[in-house]
Amino acid sequence: MSSSLDPPIEPPCSVCGAPLTANASFCPECGASQRTYRAAPAPRSEGRRWWIPVAIATGGVAALLGGALLGRVLISDPDGDLAGAAR
Ligand SMILES: [Zn+2]
Repeated sequence: MSSSLDPPIEPPCSVCGAPLTANASFCPECGASQRTYRAAPAPRSEGRRWWIPVAIATGGVAALLGGALLGRVLISDPDGDLAGAAR
């Protein structure tokens, strides 16, 4: 007993399980977006670590600058005025 008005098979709402109409971009019951749940692109593992070399480079530059500044402060203060003032 199949009618000619069978709705297209659509997976129910991934949030509340309500039946969805064809090409429904959001759930009519809870309003959850269905496009994001269905067509979520698989994240590329190699595309998520771009910040690691950047962080390393930034940290290295910061360490070099910090060391250079610290060295200059110590070298430019041979009399130990800063150390003396701290006492
Ligand atoms: Zn829903």
